[in-house]
Amino acid sequence: MRALVKTHAGPGLELLDVPEPPMGIDDVRIGVRKTGICGTDLHIEAWDAWAAATIKPPLVVGHEFVGEVLEIGSNVTDLQPGDVVSGEGHVVCGHCRHCRAGRWHLCARTVGLGVNRDGAFAEQVVLPVTNVWHHWPGVDEEVAAIFDPFGNAVHTALTFPVLGEDVLIVGAGPIGLMAAAVVRHAGARLVVISEPNAFRRELALRMGATHVVDPRVTALSDLQPEIGMVEGFDVVLEMSGNPGALRDALDHMAHGGRMALLGIPTEEIAIDVSKVVFNQLTLRGIYGREMYETWYKMSVMLQSGLDIRPAITHRFSHRDHEAAFAAARSGDSGKVIMDWKD
Ligand code: NAD
Ligand code: ZN
Repeated sequence: MRALVKTHAGPGLELLDVPEPPMGIDDVRIGVRKTGICGTDLHIEAWDAWAAATIKPPLVVGHEFVGEVLEIGSNVTDLQPGDVVSGEGHVVCGHCRHCRAGRWHLCARTVGLGVNRDGAFAEQVVLPVTNVWHHWPGVDEEVAAIFDPFGNAVHTALTFPVLGEDVLIVGAGPIGLMAAAVVRHAGARLVVISEPNAFRRELALRMGATHVVDPRVTALSDLQPEIGMVEGFDVVLEMSGNPGALRDALDHMAHGGRMALLGIPTEEIAIDVSKVVFNQLTLRGIYGREMYETWYKMSVMLQSGLDIRPAITHRFSHRDHEAAFAAARSGDSGKVIMDWKD
C-alpha cells in the first residue's frame, strides 16, 4: 500500500509502497479515504527538537482520518465492512487506574497514532476496535476526516460552561477556529479571537467570532470597554502556546474566570501566580479528547446545526503531499485535507 513515511532521522517525508499493517483479533483494518494535516505532522516532517526526541523511524505518520472498515478481528462484533469510521489517535493502556475507571483520556501510558505507532497517512490503517468511532449517518466526509482536532476544540471549548459568558480564544489556528464555532453554538455572548494572521482573523469571523483582534495592534484593555464587557473574560481558551499571549489573557480575565490551556508552548512560561490567587482563577490543562464523550458531543452538535466546514480551506491529493504540507505550514490556511482515494 502507499504510505507517507518518515524513513530516517531528518527532515522530509516519502510516499512509498510499504507492507499492509498486520492486525490482531481486537483490531479493525480501515481503508483511508481522507486525512487532515496536524501541527504534529509538520513537526515530524520538519524534524525539530521535539520530533528528534520522540519519533523512531521508520514511521507512517498522520492521525486525522476518515475511512471505511475493510476487515474486523475475530473479537470484533460491533462493526461491519463498509462502515464509515474515524479513529481516536490516543491508544490507551487499558490497565491503569484511570483506564479501569473509564477515564481513558487520563491514561499516562497513551501511545499516539502516527507518533509512537504507524499512522493514517496511508491507504490502510489498523486500530484497536476501542479506538474506532463509527460515524453517524449523514456526516460530511471532510468534517469526519478532522474529528480528531475538532475533538480538541470541543473538549477545550466545553471544559467550562460558556452559556451567556464572554469568551476569549487566543490563536485562530484550525483548532481555535473550530472552538469559536463551538462556543457560539453553546451559547456564549461575546467571542473574541486574538490572532496576528489576517487570513485567520477573517476566517474567525466566518466561524462565529463576534470580534477579532490583532494582538500586535489592539490591546485587549482597549477593546473590552468598546464591546461592552462588564469586568473581563469569563472563559479563556488558550490555543496559541505563546508566552506573551498567555500572560496577556491572564491580565484580562474576570475574577473567578476560567482558562482552558490547549496550546503547547515551546518553552517554559513564567506567569504571575498572585493574579491566579487574588483573582481566584482556574487554569486547566487539556490533552486530546474525552473518550468518548467528546466524540458523542461532536456528532450531536453537527446534527443540531454546528457547521465547522469553513475551517477547511485546502484540499490536495496525497500525491501532492509536499504542496499540502506547505499550505498547512504557511499559516494562510485553516484545515488542509489530503485525499487517499483519488
Ligand atoms: P496553530 O499553530 O495552527 O495555531 C496557533 C495560532 O496561534 C496561529 O494561528 C498563530 O498565528 C497564533 N498565535 C501566535 N502568537 C499569538 C499571539 N501572541 N496571540 C494570539 N495568537 C497567536 O495550531 P492549531 O492546530 O490550531 O493548534 C492550536 C494549539 O494547540 C497549538 O499550540 C498546538 O500545538 C496545540 N495542540 C494541543 C493539543 C492537545 O491535546 N493539548 C492537540 C492539538 C494541538
Ligand atoms: Zn491507561
